[in-house]
Amino acid sequence: MKILKFGGTSVGSVENLRRVKDILISDQENKIVVCSAMSGVTDQLVSLVENIKLEDAEAITRNIHRLESKHTDVIDELVESTEIKNVLKDGLTLLITELFEIANQEYSEIVNSQIITYGETLLTYIFSGFLKSLQIENVLLDAKDFMHVGTAENPDILEVSRRINKMFEEGVQSSIYITQGFVCRNLEGDISHLKRGGSDYTATIIGAAVNASEIQIWTDIDGLHNNDPRYVEETQPIAHLTYNEAAELAYFGAKILHPQTVSPVVDKEIPVLLKNTFDPEASGTIISNKTYRKGLKAISAKDGITAIKIKSNRMLMAHGYLRRIFEVFDNYHTSIDMITTSEIAISLTIDNISNLDEIVREIETYAEVTVEQNHSIICIVGESVINDRNSYKLFEILNYIPVRMVSYGGSNNNISLLVDTKDKIPTLRFLNEKLFHVPHEIVV
Ligand code: ADP
Ligand code: ASP
Ligand code: MG
Repeated sequence: MKILKFGGTSVGSVENLRRVKDILISDQENKIVVCSAMSGVTDQLVSLVENIKLEDAEAITRNIHRLESKHTDVIDELVESTEIKNVLKDGLTLLITELFEIANQEYSEIVNSQIITYGETLLTYIFSGFLKSLQIENVLLDAKDFMHVGTAENPDILEVSRRINKMFEEGVQSSIYITQGFVCRNLEGDISHLKRGGSDYTATIIGAAVNASEIQIWTDIDGLHNNDPRYVEETQPIAHLTYNEAAELAYFGAKILHPQTVSPVVDKEIPVLLKNTFDPEASGTIISNKTYRKGLKAISAKDGITAIKIKSNRMLMAHGYLRRIFEVFDNYHTSIDMITTSEIAISLTIDNISNLDEIVREIETYAEVTVEQNHSIICIVGESVINDRNSYKLFEILNYIPVRMVSYGGSNNNISLLVDTKDKIPTLRFLNEKLFHVPHEIVV
């Protein structure tokens, strides 16, 4: 069994949905197909949630009608038979009626999750019907029936596995199952979601649950590139990455992968392939436990970082001081990404600022605290990157950009720089020039 996940652009138009169909029928193996919402739809649903919060009935109606006509147009163009077209449109009307019912409720976390994951429900319904109209047998599975992950941070793979296997035993057999990415259920059994971009994570959770032979993530680019193609020209796809490398890059901003994508499949050693829907022949990237080459692989950037400097003379020669500081962050469930220390000060970074005021207030009782927002972590990744012959060149950046923090040697596989976000793009471009336009030999 393989898992194939198609992202927003891949399912974002009639033409692209036909490409996805071609990819599915080009391979006979049994598969579970995880789909995102059409591109732009989740953003529109997020704005619908804003309408609900403001109780703006007119905007709610306008927004839902826009979604309805977008999906009706897709059915019209995609499906040839008038009869099937009408059946699909009737089903769409029912889904839209249900969406109105959800949107008429008072705002809550559950309503938020129900609404923002609805794009996946609409798209998979249409896509499954389209395949059937072409006599391509498939079964549409409701991910809400089996994605009982408990918590998104530590998904309960056994429970998901138990539920999927039960569905397979009781339900109709098929070589193609279609289901929705992004949506899940929490510990209470309520509808929840895996955060934006979460369909990648759905694919690997399902892959681990069914012991898939392979997970393919189909998107709009030919694999994970060595730098962010949105900001840097002439980036190159990387043929092989280890799970560790992919996890670091995804966590530190490589948008092509949801930050937690690889974690469910590492222990089971299930390979993850990143493939291009618009160029299926391109080899893409294979993520596995094999190291084909050591040294520098890629650079990524994560925005929305807050730097906190904590200074106190009491820190001088005092043991237990760091523990005291870390405990405060721990108590507020706030994880720390980068840390640097001197004898009387410590600087660290966080990305979750929901408890920042409380944290600062607590630490200010015994130290001076300075907070700087709008920073980015630039992450230079590769197995044994600190031994890469060229890695010293990255420090030439200090001639041009004010670097706020450096983390070197925390692991052999990652060097991180903290810069003001306004300096992010020049930093990525500078590092690209210095580090990739030279041969990368490793000295161990
Ligand atoms: P999907 O909708 O298929 O999930 P995403 O937009 O989430 O696709 O991810 C693909 C995009 O990620 C690419 O179009 C590219 O702009 C962006 N991206 C950012 N960093 C990288 C990188 N290092 N390699 C490849 N793509 C990247
Ligand atoms: N549709 C969701 C989003 O836009 C999930 C995904 O595409 O992975 O974030
Ligand atoms: Mg994505």
